[in-house]
Amino acid sequence: MTRTRFSLLALLAAASVGAALGMFSTAWQPRIALAKPAAPAPAVQPPQDGKLRIIIFGAHPDDAEYRGAGVAMKWAKLGHHVKLVSATNGDIGHWQSAGGPLALRRIREVQEVARRLGVTVEVLDIHDGEITPTLENRRTFTRLIRQWNADIVITNRPNDYHPDHRYTSILVQDSAYMVTVPFFVPDVPPLKNNPVFFYTADRFQKPNPFTADLAVSIDEVIEPTLDALLVMESQIHEGGANGYPGIYPEDPAGRQKRRDEVRKSLARRYASAADTYRDALVKFYGPDQGRKIRYAQAFEICEYGRRPSTGELRKLFPF
Ligand SMILES: [Zn+2]
Repeated sequence: MTRTRFSLLALLAAASVGAALGMFSTAWQPRIALAKPAAPAPAVQPPQDGKLRIIIFGAHPDDAEYRGAGVAMKWAKLGHHVKLVSATNGDIGHWQSAGGPLALRRIREVQEVARRLGVTVEVLDIHDGEITPTLENRRTFTRLIRQWNADIVITNRPNDYHPDHRYTSILVQDSAYMVTVPFFVPDVPPLKNNPVFFYTADRFQKPNPFTADLAVSIDEVIEPTLDALLVMESQIHEGGANGYPGIYPEDPAGRQKRRDEVRKSLARRYASAADTYRDALVKFYGPDQGRKIRYAQAFEICEYGRRPSTGELRKLFPF
């Protein structure tokens, strides 16, 4: 983790330790409700239970959620283990507020999303807008993938308009081989099997467009997925960094109208993916089923991790 000017997680950890040591009387109440920090990843890999282990990286507390929520819920329902990681704390991701209070708000939002999806979440304490592909961050990403004992690693492609998105992807790429190298971050055991790395879909064309190696249906989880994503009010209803006064009205009717609009817009995003990547759906599910799918998420296999066979892809996406 980068040394930051303020350390949110240190603050949270200090509050937890203080409470554990009985430093606060039972009558004492914090003036704001602190988010419970995400459970720290274990120092060594968890024992294998025969289930898949998936880790999804996004730059901000909403990116891994948008890109992975549907398929994450499908894995979770089958008992597989999914972790969503935000590489930054999101502390400038709003048009009206910033800093620690916003970071806390965003952590609470993604924790609730994760609870609804049945997955784990971690938000790194790196300032929004400031992540860079440093050696220190490469070590952090490598540790996270090893600690999760990942079979599958997912992130966005490095072709992207946002520098945090670009560098998050680069850091995942930089870790793709290093997770297997014993004397790189030797405090966490290396992975015996190199995970398969996937990119999520995007519309950027240069230097090369996204290629759908695989597309999966999220039809059966679309409603709970949308319900979960709509929890991120600061980003979805209030417009995040590009919001403006009045975007999320105060009156109940105006609020409901906005909520309905953003829900439809999100649903259209997954519906558009099903249409755009129809060939990949037909390839994976066969023509009868593949043509009927309404909502989908598509993935491209990264060249740097393990290259799966078609048979292995079906084991990794056992839907
Ligand atoms: Zn983002």
